[in-house]
Amino acid sequence: MPELPEVETVRRGLEPLLNSARITAVVVRDRRLRWPVAEDFEASLTGRWIRHIERRSKYLLFRLTGPQPGTLLAHLGMTGSFTTHRVTALPEIRTHDHVDIRLATQDGDYVLRYNDPRRFGSMHFFSGEDGSQPLLAELGPEPLTDALTGEYLYRETRRRTGPIKQALMDNTLVVGVGNIYANESLFRAGIHPSRPANRVSLARYERLVREVKAVLAEAIAAGGSTLRDFVNTAGEPGYFQLDYFVYGRDGQPCRVCATPLRLMRHGGRATVFCPTCQR
Ligand code: ZN
Repeated sequence: MPELPEVETVRRGLEPLLNSARITAVVVRDRRLRWPVAEDFEASLTGRWIRHIERRSKYLLFRLTGPQPGTLLAHLGMTGSFTTHRVTALPEIRTHDHVDIRLATQDGDYVLRYNDPRRFGSMHFFSGEDGSQPLLAELGPEPLTDALTGEYLYRETRRRTGPIKQALMDNTLVVGVGNIYANESLFRAGIHPSRPANRVSLARYERLVREVKAVLAEAIAAGGSTLRDFVNTAGEPGYFQLDYFVYGRDGQPCRVCATPLRLMRHGGRATVFCPTCQR
């Protein structure tokens, strides 16, 4: 499933072409995404210009001009991907190509195509403030901004008795720390994933926040090199292969102390950790 680094890479890949593009037509072939695509979706978008693309958590926000400014809010779900194609070299429509957005860009006419085999992704148009959107209203701070600090996590977890791993993956506390990155940052911070969130000291939260930011930044940097694969080809979306310390390595020796890594579950999600390095 695309995590924050993949979504950020998609944003960076799309932005140069789509900035200042005008939406000339929208085709929805299948409205049955995670939530049905609204009947007036096509009419709401057509004729508007894309000002720029932002990311909030794992949502892409295409900021649109118009008599009333608006936003196209898109989520890639489990298997969603965007590809861009010149209109003169448009590939044949595949089974799960659900939405085409035709664009007049400074580089000619393009189609932004959305493909999503499992249809857990979504697309909404809204005008008005982000806070008026239920999908955005409850989200915690962005991990790569100054809003996420050790002090913030420490303060917000004083009454959380559940495992630190689950707190870290709770989007109302902080967004975008998916399972891979929670595993890795807890290992790198030396914190046992089952430790109650309210039993982690301020100093350890400061260390954890540094590692969360570093792990995500490294993944985004790794994504830059796979950008072409990720947004511009007609294949399946690629995922970033980092050299993980723990994720996907249960039973293998810890890269620091050689103790066999252990597997457990938190909220149904696999956690791999080192029983020696993480306390
Ligand atoms: Zn170890």
